[in-house]
Amino acid sequence: MTKKYIKPLILLTLTGVILLVTSCKQAPVSQAPYQALIITGQNNHTWQGSSPILKKILENSDLFSVDIIQSPEAKADMSGFKPVFSNYDVVVLDYNGDAWTAETKKAFEEYVSQGGGVVSYHAADNSFRDWKEYNKMTGLGGWGNRNETDGPFIHWKDGAFIRDSTTPGIGGYHGAQQAYQVTARDTVHPIMKGLPTVWKHAKDELYSQLRGPAENLTILATAWSDSAKGGSNRNEPVLMTVTYGKGRIFHTVLGHAMGDSAYPSMECVGFIFTLQRGAEWAATGQVTLPVPDDFPHFNTESKWPQFRPLTLDEILANLKDYHPGDTRTNLQDLTNYIRKNYDSGEKYARVESELLRFLEGTGSIDAKNYICRELSIFGTDKALPVLKKLQKKEETKEMARMAIERITTQYTNE
Ligand code: ZN
Repeated sequence: MTKKYIKPLILLTLTGVILLVTSCKQAPVSQAPYQALIITGQNNHTWQGSSPILKKILENSDLFSVDIIQSPEAKADMSGFKPVFSNYDVVVLDYNGDAWTAETKKAFEEYVSQGGGVVSYHAADNSFRDWKEYNKMTGLGGWGNRNETDGPFIHWKDGAFIRDSTTPGIGGYHGAQQAYQVTARDTVHPIMKGLPTVWKHAKDELYSQLRGPAENLTILATAWSDSAKGGSNRNEPVLMTVTYGKGRIFHTVLGHAMGDSAYPSMECVGFIFTLQRGAEWAATGQVTLPVPDDFPHFNTESKWPQFRPLTLDEILANLKDYHPGDTRTNLQDLTNYIRKNYDSGEKYARVESELLRFLEGTGSIDAKNYICRELSIFGTDKALPVLKKLQKKEETKEMARMAIERITTQYTNE
């Protein structure tokens, strides 16, 4: 660089700094207490889809502000890939690709052993077969030619975990994708506390016959890998924790993401919430997030297509054109929302005024009748003027009359 270019460059740099500072001032200040880093850029899955979703999921917990770092592409020079792990409370691995440099691997080992948090997500446990310390962190892994030299198979049988160190064979495969039940095997761990013992996970792969060092491993939940669907006929670990030095690792095998369409596995509230809690635990050793009301039940899936609960506006928009025969999910969403926000104060008052606004709008008659039904259970005196108007219309008079009657007689089924 010749001298004459230096001055303009300094000026440009200074201008850049000033612009940056100005734009930072305008940006909302993050209140999130913890910093997370998602590592991505190479995967046999659609990381371009999954990594932004992981970011949303973590940010929607209000616990994390999240950076994403993208590695060079496969076979490219990795020498410049040096994430500053120590700037973060938790590192989320959405990476299954080329080896990192010795320097980067060492930095990661130091970060974790000194107390850093890690989340190993889905195919991250396929990565780095030859990196011994990494496999200690994930506990179990699959593919990449893993076999009996990489560690035991682990599965649950007759109330205990079996460490099978004697059976030879490849580590890692899965049968056909399907929705399946996840069973809690540790109900006191902070990540698991308050969750149902069994819940229905949305369509996903079920990693089976993983193998690995399995040291300092706690298996939180398993799923039955059904041989009728190409599975192993074993209860396979799906949620785990590992400790490595002072570091904590949360390992979820869930969340297969491939192609451009929606990923049902990642929309599952069970996946989202255990990932949020797992990341919090990895970052802090504690869990503060309360179990959402719409966590899936033993035989009922539950999804958050926006990776968070729907707002009342979104629920009412979904309900606007409701007719009998349509999916009842939208109705159920509204009922759940009302129950969740039902108090004797402002929270419910805001909900009720939105419901009344809907009743005076252009929504379908069936949607309005459903809301009248809800008001017959939850409604207050404030609903009466709108209900009286609806009572004068033929198509809504019955439900409106019932709501008025129940509200005025202080009816309650609580
Ligand atoms: Zn997958």
